[in-house]
Amino acid sequence: MNKEDAKIRIAKLRVSIDEYRHAYHVLDQATISDAALDSLKHELYRLEQEFPDLITSDSPTQRIGGTPLDKFEKVTHEKPMLSMEDVFTLSEFGEWFDRIHKLSDASTFFLMPKIDGLAVSIIYVDGLLSSAATRGDGRVGENVTLNVRTIESVPLRLKEAERVEGSKGRRVEVRGEIYIATKDFKKLNDQQATDGEALFANPRNAAAGSVRQLDPKITASRHLSFVAWDLVTDLGQTTQAEEWEILRELGFKPTPDSIVVTTVDEIQAHWKTLQKKRDGLGFWVDGMVVRVNDNATFDDLGVIGKTPRGLVAWKFPAEEVTSIVKDIQWFVGRTGAITPVAVLEPTQLGGTTVQHASLHNFDEIERLDVRVGDTVVLYKAGDIIPKVKGVVGGMRVEGSKAAEMPAACPVCGSSVERKEGEVAIVCSNRQCSAQNQEAVLHAARAFAIDGIGPATIATLMDAGIIQLPPDLFRLIPDDFNGLEGFGEVSANKLVDEIRARKEIPLAKFVVALGIRNVGEETARDLARRFRTIDALMAATLVDLTAVPQVGAIVAQSVVDFFAEQHHRDIVASYVANGIQIVAPAVVDTSKLPLTGKSFVLTGGLDTMSRDEAKEKIRALGGDLSESVSKKTAFVIVGTDPGSKFEKAKGLGVPILSETEFIAMLASL
Ligand SMILES: [Zn+2]
Repeated sequence: MNKEDAKIRIAKLRVSIDEYRHAYHVLDQATISDAALDSLKHELYRLEQEFPDLITSDSPTQRIGGTPLDKFEKVTHEKPMLSMEDVFTLSEFGEWFDRIHKLSDASTFFLMPKIDGLAVSIIYVDGLLSSAATRGDGRVGENVTLNVRTIESVPLRLKEAERVEGSKGRRVEVRGEIYIATKDFKKLNDQQATDGEALFANPRNAAAGSVRQLDPKITASRHLSFVAWDLVTDLGQTTQAEEWEILRELGFKPTPDSIVVTTVDEIQAHWKTLQKKRDGLGFWVDGMVVRVNDNATFDDLGVIGKTPRGLVAWKFPAEEVTSIVKDIQWFVGRTGAITPVAVLEPTQLGGTTVQHASLHNFDEIERLDVRVGDTVVLYKAGDIIPKVKGVVGGMRVEGSKAAEMPAACPVCGSSVERKEGEVAIVCSNRQCSAQNQEAVLHAARAFAIDGIGPATIATLMDAGIIQLPPDLFRLIPDDFNGLEGFGEVSANKLVDEIRARKEIPLAKFVVALGIRNVGEETARDLARRFRTIDALMAATLVDLTAVPQVGAIVAQSVVDFFAEQHHRDIVASYVANGIQIVAPAVVDTSKLPLTGKSFVLTGGLDTMSRDEAKEKIRALGGDLSESVSKKTAFVIVGTDPGSKFEKAKGLGVPILSETEFIAMLASL
């Protein structure tokens, strides 16, 4: 072939190869087999070798060229490459959205998947790829031109060059993401394994590592891809959506799955759709970018620090996160097994808030060497239960101590046992956790939490989520994730109900504590006398017996109860979990008609509940007692009265029927 013919043939080959390349790498339309395309490239290569003076920089053969570099040259970006603010939840996103609406009249938003790769800036001069640089620190990056040229989805010459023609030396800057497709990532790691090289942790590292190769041949072998996400040069675009059109015309593949929407609901819907699709997208996506679509509005919103205000990355739930271990607590399950649980700085993992993770047993703590204060990596086993994967090295706080196996049961103080050959330790008190479960149920009733019964309490205790009554008040909906019988709705409902019960009269609170020999009436008497839980906790035997209706046995029970640190801790824990204890209202009872008169109720009433009857008596200044004595003023006898009726008759205490009682109330 003579030079003239070769020149024509070369021109044709270049156009064809470039079209096929564009169809394959940019449009994702394979219009020719890889083998056939390789054959065309080979022919071109041979011709160019024969007539080297016909080689031009935009020839497909020139993607790989040049000799390995000693080091990367620094490049200063003409316009800084900014980063993005990340948000992780709908409410965080909502804050951004509201802020944008307050600061601007932005009406439409441009959404695109956030492909996790390496951001680069590519400069074209007179339509030809001239240079490419990494983001670097945003101001100064590295010149990776030779490597970027090897990426087939990066055009070496802009299509539709008339768009940018005009003045000679016209410069066009396009920014985007270099990434490695999921399938190519797998191939690359297989090859690394075969070659005995270190594996890449994820596609982003693989892409970054491949671009930052001093030898472009290595980059070329890695099958990198490129999507554009910003046309920096003004080619007449007024919105991000128009940029996408122009980028396509210039021969780029703009980030796929990108749409324009208006409302926050549409934004959330697209975020959910992308999240569902993420595994099938063929590349690694870690969130969705939301950008004010109108460029003038976007520019007006300006930059805060290193991030533009009009742009935000709404991340997908992470599959692994790190958090700090605040405490290692030991939980007693229903079988008596004592299980360690890491209490964590609350964090988002897989779409839910996580604040504790099971550590299984003491062996696991030793294996992981987890200590209080450590930074740990968390993941969700079976996508549900948060687990500790390991400790982040080099972040241990000074003076931290290895966790110790508890010598005594954290609930009842009994000794712990570890059976031969077993890893779990158990409480030697067979009644321990059963009692505890009773205590939680008792407290739930005192707080009038209706939605929680024995089965739910058992489930929560088995999962190590609650152990003691105050733990009820730190439940969050996400704690119910994966628990049998709970959906998002029922979990939210229960947590709302519990939260609505945080305010409790002192008397009810005293009942909730479950002090021996202290029933509802005694609790009221104590509340009226002491008025705060602190005063009650500080009361001596003398203080207590001074209260009318409180005898020596009750007084001793109260003193014994608060003498135990465990019980004082429970009170503190209630307060720490936001319980507000309300003092009884002060009434001048001395002037009320029933002041000084003590009533006892026995049997059921027809026209009112027993509680209503009690309220009426109290409202008139009367006292209620649980037992009949000579001091009792009246015993009100309803249907099926108990032994109190007999006792009243025996002591000669005045007896009122329900009708007589109502008549008495009416007469006062
Ligand atoms: Zn125990």
